[in-house]
Amino acid sequence: MGQYIVALDQGTTSSRAVVFTTDGQVVSSYNREFPQHYPKPGWVEHDPRDILDTQIEALQEAVRLGGIHVSEIAAIGLTNQRETTFLWDRATGECVGNAIVWQCRRTSGIVDQLVSDGCGDLIRERTGLVPDAYFSGTKLKWMLDYYNLHEKAAKGELCFGTVDSFLCWHLLEGRPHVTDATNAGRTMLFNLRTQDWDDDLLKLLDIPRACLPKVVDSAGPIGLLDPAILGRAIPVTGMAGDQHASLFGQACMKVGDLKNTYGTGCFMLMNTGDRPVVSQNGLLTTMAWRIGGKPTYALEGSVFMGGATIQWLRDELKIITHAAETEGIARSIPGTGGVYLVPAFTGLGAPWWDMYSRGTLIGMTRGTGRAQIVRAALEAIAYQSADLMEAMARDSGKQPERLQVDGGASANSFLMQFQADISGIPVVRPVVLETTALGAALLAGLGAGVYSSLEETAAVWHQDLSFTPQMDEATRLLGLKGWHRAVERSLNFAEH
Ligand code: ADP
Repeated sequence: MGQYIVALDQGTTSSRAVVFTTDGQVVSSYNREFPQHYPKPGWVEHDPRDILDTQIEALQEAVRLGGIHVSEIAAIGLTNQRETTFLWDRATGECVGNAIVWQCRRTSGIVDQLVSDGCGDLIRERTGLVPDAYFSGTKLKWMLDYYNLHEKAAKGELCFGTVDSFLCWHLLEGRPHVTDATNAGRTMLFNLRTQDWDDDLLKLLDIPRACLPKVVDSAGPIGLLDPAILGRAIPVTGMAGDQHASLFGQACMKVGDLKNTYGTGCFMLMNTGDRPVVSQNGLLTTMAWRIGGKPTYALEGSVFMGGATIQWLRDELKIITHAAETEGIARSIPGTGGVYLVPAFTGLGAPWWDMYSRGTLIGMTRGTGRAQIVRAALEAIAYQSADLMEAMARDSGKQPERLQVDGGASANSFLMQFQADISGIPVVRPVVLETTALGAALLAGLGAGVYSSLEETAAVWHQDLSFTPQMDEATRLLGLKGWHRAVERSLNFAEH
């Protein structure tokens, strides 16, 4: 048995590969960006060839940089940007067109129609998702309609897939047409309870079962890497969407375990165990992972403007030059002096769900300046995350004991301390911040028998820093109260 596990991390803007030791240390990594295509306003596409080429290059380069021999690689795991939709010819592998990226809004009209036809509750109940163009189902329908391919699809001559399926089909021996349960759960076609494609939803969207991949576990034998790529048929034994892999890489194995990834947006997931919790607060119900045929579920919420709020300070307000500067600026003052920034630039998500709220800077006085605004921007990331956490606690009936963090903005220790203060629980940052890739590697290790239990994979996770709450309760409640008053002022502002 080899001593390394390689994770492929196919993201929205780049393809990445990371070589890990079996005790979770990074040996080498390689990242390759690829172009985004915006053929019309609101449309986003990827060229499938770019995805494939950059992912193969990343894999080969990461292994080369690691100076390891391919015979030492025990397994490969795969994680990916979710929901992005591919459709290809089963005989030739040729895609019918560019992939439609998760951000693409072209199918909003299809979703509006479903909702006005009264299908919203059915979708929510079966899939755990809020009906939205974000998910793959309507993107696939759009492709079948636009390219007039319903008949061909019904004959089984086409393959639909998200990035995981697309990569497995092209990179593995024997071209398996598979997806893992976490990715399937983001299609708006997958029934969370039966763990199968839902015939009622397929009928609603006029999608034939014959074009859908087989749904497999997130850990377990999936296939062998085509030996043409690295010179050896290495087992691929782990697969999960990026946020699910990150939950696994954060070792959130127990019910109530919670992680937040602070990237451009923030993604918070809470493990809810073998029970799919239906949210009363606008959160999504999703798969955590499926192992040994046994589904583990999660609640998911996202903050649209996380690190993007800091990009706004830099690129639009131009009051900072680097994101990292914000930490020192925020620390240079004792507080915002009652200033709040609600970065509802594109509306607010859970628990508010108001598409018409807009960015609001409120509570300013004559003394308000750059430092207060920068600090309010950082605090806003934490306040929004605190609201998600509160919604998760209410929905699940579980008070989380701590919050595990990763992502670019988790490097900001002011932000992490403020998060701990305002949420009233410790915030814990791991040694390996590449939790998404680590999660894919751990799933693959579990699937290959490198680890024999969830406990063994969890033992690979190591804490770096823990931020313990230091704010007194009265100050915390006052801060939250001010934030919620500011959010109220931002709601329902855009004309509609
Ligand atoms: P993504 O994966 O979404 O591209 P990353 O995890 O790479 O995002 O994080 C990048 C985001 O984090 C950017 O929006 C950036 O503004 C923010 N960011 C990076 N470093 C810091 C920092 N030290 N303080 C605050 N925000 C930061």
